[in-house]
Amino acid sequence: MMNTTDKPQIKLAAWPAIVHARCPRCRQGNLFANSMYGFHSQKMNKTCSHCGLTYEREPGYFYVAMFVSYALNVAEMVTVCVATSVLTGSMNPWLYVGLALSASVILSPFNFRYSRVALLHWLTPGLHYHRERSPL
Ligand SMILES: [Zn+2]
Repeated sequence: MMNTTDKPQIKLAAWPAIVHARCPRCRQGNLFANSMYGFHSQKMNKTCSHCGLTYEREPGYFYVAMFVSYALNVAEMVTVCVATSVLTGSMNPWLYVGLALSASVILSPFNFRYSRVALLHWLTPGLHYHRERSPL
């Protein structure tokens, strides 16, 4: 029997929350205070504005995100080098070094942001979506 004060719970989809860097527990609050590419450095919120989750679970928690960022960076550099080889067929190593390093620098804000998103959404045991924490 449904209580009259209970409102129907809508389960929010995971992928929009991941793409938009939302809280892993309620999928509503923003993880970051500013945009990915801009003139200011990236600033991560300390807690979720909706459910109050503290994003840094313990001191040094985000050091693990460096490993995720490293894996993303290697995947991007390999992709750029393979694409360069397929598209140009060049044998000049400086072309590959230059393009791989350029891709690394250009994509570093993306890697910073989504390494933390991946850490919070997929790699943290015990941190899951709670439908009752969502305001919908
Ligand atoms: Zn939240």
